[in-house]
Amino acid sequence: MHSVPARITSLPPFDCEPRTRMVFGEDALERVGELAREIGGRHVLLVTDRGLAAVGHPTRAVGFLEAAGLHVTIYDEVRENPTTLDVDRCVAVARQAGIDLIVGLGGGSSMDTAKGTNFILTNGGQMKDYWGVGKATKPMLPLIAVPTTSGTGSECQSFALISDEQTHQKMACGDPKAAARVAILDPLLTVSQPPRVTACTGIDALAHALETAVTKKRTPLSAIYSREAFRLCLSGLERVLTDPQDLEARGLMQLGAAFAGTAIENSMLGAAHSAANPLTAHFGIIHGQAVGLMLPAIIAFNARDPLAHERYMELSAAADLGPIEEFIAELEVLLDVAKMREGLAKLGIDRTQFPTLAREAAQQWTATFNPRPITAADFEQLYEEVLG
Ligand SMILES: [Zn+2]
Repeated sequence: MHSVPARITSLPPFDCEPRTRMVFGEDALERVGELAREIGGRHVLLVTDRGLAAVGHPTRAVGFLEAAGLHVTIYDEVRENPTTLDVDRCVAVARQAGIDLIVGLGGGSSMDTAKGTNFILTNGGQMKDYWGVGKATKPMLPLIAVPTTSGTGSECQSFALISDEQTHQKMACGDPKAAARVAILDPLLTVSQPPRVTACTGIDALAHALETAVTKKRTPLSAIYSREAFRLCLSGLERVLTDPQDLEARGLMQLGAAFAGTAIENSMLGAAHSAANPLTAHFGIIHGQAVGLMLPAIIAFNARDPLAHERYMELSAAADLGPIEEFIAELEVLLDVAKMREGLAKLGIDRTQFPTLAREAAQQWTATFNPRPITAADFEQLYEEVLG
């Protein structure tokens, strides 16, 4: 008789079907028409925001789409942190026009609005019906995602983040069918970002690499994306902050953000995002800044877990950094360069708010994937550490 081998605990099983074709390169936007035709589009809804009009990206996209023989309807009223109202407005435009393909052009908000619209347009009902994973029963329209920032990685994810217009509750609505069929990664599109956007989205991408690398849902495959995303962001972030025109560095960040987004799709996020979300909801602190502010303290907290520590050290080795103290110090240097080391006190937050913030942080979905169990009391302590 054979003895039964011990179960593998270090290599969790995974089932990953890559859904998003990645097309990367300078001037990759020029291919949007050809790619839209290839996946069956005839009448395109271009979802974007007004701010981008000034730098000409939407006009160029329309030009390429029309040159390929496609008809284009534009929805350019995307607002930051889109709500159910944004989705409803965009759906109305899409229904009226009778579109058969969606292009999301812009930052995470444009891509979220495009995905949210796709849910309602094809499956009906309201956004909250899709809160969670895999609730769309009917096929969805093909989506092409064209990011103009390097941060959210939404172009490589099947989630739409839409807030309820009334309650401001952020709903993560995910379905494999909602993932973009194609992500066009053109670093030239990211050169026009205002410096503050470059900083906030860049720190967010770096945080995605770090959080996905240690979550409970991490797999051998997601680990590859996390590690490479970390290496790319570490190589590119300081360069784009000091020289916004450095196109190679823009490319490093564009890939870093997309790879980190792919890692999120496979391994979710952790406690830095849990701690950050209530700061954004109550005090309007920009997502990347809130995440960056919490990140060093969360890494120090997680590194007390031996396995998480080992995984941070794998990233550290991949980037030629040293022990955990040096690893965190390097991150703090980047946060300094990004001008994101202001404590909570300077942002107008005091101790009396910690219990509410901590309670909400502990209830965030992402907290459940953190490598170390984390309670409201832990979050209160962590906010204390970054009070400044
Ligand atoms: Zn984030």
